[in-house]
Amino acid sequence: MKRFIWLFLTIGLALAAAPVHVVQPGETLYRIAETYGVPLEALAAANGIEDVNLIRAGQRLVVPSDPSWPEGWGLSVTPWPPVQGEPAVFRVPEGVGTVQVFNLKVPVASDVALVPVPADTNPGLYPFVLKGPDLKGELLVVAGGYGHENIMLSEEKNALLDREKIRAEKARLLEACGPWTPEVRWQGPWRWPLEQVEVTSEFGTRRSYNGRPGGWHGGVDLRGKEGTPVYAPAAGVVGLSDELYVRGNAVILRHGLGVCSGYYHLSQRVVESGQTVERGDLIGYIGMTGLSTGPHLHWEVRILGQTTDPAAFTRSELWHRLAPARAAGP
Ligand SMILES: [Zn+2]
Repeated sequence: MKRFIWLFLTIGLALAAAPVHVVQPGETLYRIAETYGVPLEALAAANGIEDVNLIRAGQRLVVPSDPSWPEGWGLSVTPWPPVQGEPAVFRVPEGVGTVQVFNLKVPVASDVALVPVPADTNPGLYPFVLKGPDLKGELLVVAGGYGHENIMLSEEKNALLDREKIRAEKARLLEACGPWTPEVRWQGPWRWPLEQVEVTSEFGTRRSYNGRPGGWHGGVDLRGKEGTPVYAPAAGVVGLSDELYVRGNAVILRHGLGVCSGYYHLSQRVVESGQTVERGDLIGYIGMTGLSTGPHLHWEVRILGQTTDPAAFTRSELWHRLAPARAAGP
């Protein structure tokens, strides 16, 4: 008898959540959108579908829906639904100290947790826990609509890469980002680090190297001649200013709330570790040091070590969503 009750409970819960739809033979995306009462474009975008006529039976589709946790929790997540590769802001009820999601433990400042949604998170449902009251819910994640690019590397150069040095450099970079701290060091939306912005490779672009799949682009590449000035997009403290193996001349800034930003392949660095910088301060010049095929700026932003779309920080929405954490700051 007990087993049956569990069975019904499980089915009941599955129906209540239901934001994942498995495509049946003969179904069209148009029909599915109509069934769930969501716009066709929203359904396509949520699943990274470019051609709405190209779906296959058995494909799992995320249906953009309203949050499924009880209103009484007082939890809000923006943007809703969260997008892979973009930061999501959790406004949590009182007593919550940490948000556990995507294998991350995100501390709460005031009532806000700034959560990075990893760029390789497949669209779908992910469990989360609000630690303290230990409330368990599920988070819907939709596709970021990222493109693809193939990078040609000379096999010789690739063979010469020292894997141990690469690993050590990554560890150093994460250390330079520093521990999570509750204060928000910056004011307002970030500026871009260059005067003239031309993105040559977007964040999140799926990459293959010589035709072999190889992850995604963890930053944005900005076009610029050697010697073009690079400015701090937001106030922070210099966590690292040094020459690295892969990233060449590198500057890393700490901005608080677990956020750090990196500026790589510079020809010259003009700040020192430990120094405070303001928005718009000169930090270095574009170059092609380290493993770089030409002069450009690779700009990277991490939250708790997880790469996230830098452009999100230049938008006013994110700044407004963080308001309560700012109020609690110094
Ligand atoms: Zn890059």
